[in-house]
Amino acid sequence: MATVSLDGVRKSFGKTPVIHGVDIDIADGEFIVIVGPSGCGKSTLLRMVAGLETVTDGEVRIDGERVNDKEPMDRDIAMVFQNYALYPHMSVFDNMAYGLKIAKTPKPEIEERVRTAATMLQLDPYLARKPRELSGGQRQRVAMGRAIVRKPAVFLFDEPLSNLDAKLRVQMRLEIKQLQRQLGITALYVTHDQVEAMTLADRMVVMNAGRADQIGAPLQVYADPRTEFVAGFIGSPP
Ligand code: ADP
Ligand code: MG
Repeated sequence: MATVSLDGVRKSFGKTPVIHGVDIDIADGEFIVIVGPSGCGKSTLLRMVAGLETVTDGEVRIDGERVNDKEPMDRDIAMVFQNYALYPHMSVFDNMAYGLKIAKTPKPEIEERVRTAATMLQLDPYLARKPRELSGGQRQRVAMGRAIVRKPAVFLFDEPLSNLDAKLRVQMRLEIKQLQRQLGITALYVTHDQVEAMTLADRMVVMNAGRADQIGAPLQVYADPRTEFVAGFIGSPP
C-alpha cells in the first residue's frame, strides 16, 4: 500500500516562486507521469517528494503521513535519474547491492534480490562488469535495478530515458511499462516527452510554468485539453 499526496505544494528559490501550488493525489499502484517543457518545475516537484528540496508551503504525504521534514533516507522511496549516477569502480552486482548493504540487509537476501532484479532486467550476463563496459541502455537498467532491489513503496523517475537514442528510448519505454505491470508500482515519472507520457501514464499531469494545468488519463487529456497550453503541448510533435 503506497499513496502519495501533494497538497497545495509551493516552492520558492530565494524570493523567486517556481511551483505555485500543486495538488496531486496518487493512488496505490498508480503510474503518474508529469509532463511539461524544460524549466516548468518537474524536477523541483519530484525532488520535494524525494526530500532533496525543502517544501516552501503545502504538504507532501506518503501513505497519509506528512513527510515534509523527513530525511530522504527515511522516506520509503527510490529515485532513478537521467544520468544513471552509477559507481564507476563497482561491478553491476555491487552497484545494485549497494543500498541494501547500507541498510544491513542479510547477504543471502541481497544475493536473491539482486539476481531476481537482474533477470527481470536482462542483466544476468553483466553482473561482474563495470558500468563503463555497458551500453547506455544497460546502464539505465542497472540504475533501475538498484531502485527495484530496495522494494520501495514509491518510485520516482526524473527523465530516465532522455540520454538514450530514439530507438532505445522506445524499447526502454516498453520495458518500463512491462515492469510497471509486473510489479504494480506506485510511481511518479517526469518527462518532457509527451509520447513517453501518453504511453506510460495511468494519469498524466501537464505542467506549465509551475502549475498543474490538467490532470487526467492520457486519452482524456488528449481529447479534451482544458487550456490552450495543454492543447499545444500535447498536440505538438516530440
Ligand atoms: P524542469 O525539471 O521542468 O526542467 P526544474 O524543476 O529543474 O524544471 O526548474 C524549475 C525552475 O526552477 C527553473 O526556472 C529553474 O531555473 C529553477 N531552479 C531549479 N533549481 C533551482 C535552484 N537550486 N536554485 C534556483 N533556481 C532553481
Ligand atoms: Mg528536470
